[in-house]
Amino acid sequence: MQEERAFVPASIRQQGPQTLGVTWGDGHESEYGVRALRLACACASCIDEWSGKEQLDEATVPADVRPLRITPVGRYAVQIAWSDGHETGIYPFRRLRALCACAACRPEPAAGA
Ligand SMILES: [Zn+2]
Ligand SMILES: [Zn+2]
Repeated sequence: MQEERAFVPASIRQQGPQTLGVTWGDGHESEYGVRALRLACACASCIDEWSGKEQLDEATVPADVRPLRITPVGRYAVQIAWSDGHETGIYPFRRLRALCACAACRPEPAAGA
């Protein structure tokens, strides 16, 4: 079982125009492509609450979308306000950690990445 602190970010920072970096409490470093994070939004307007179907049309998300504001939500999540005007997305830390695409977390190269 992974320790709880593995799911708490020690720091979140914009590493580049397209990259968000997170250092986790256990020292793990994650880098996220910001557009992929935007597309992974699981809020009610992006994912249908009842069917779980994706409502978000990828074509409507600009290629250069980026986070404008990252706001902590309690002790379990961050809310990200995006440059495309979408700001209802909440990313629980566990979900964020699960989305890590580094070699240690994803030994297989992700398709299309
Ligand atoms: Zn959303
Ligand atoms: Zn990782």
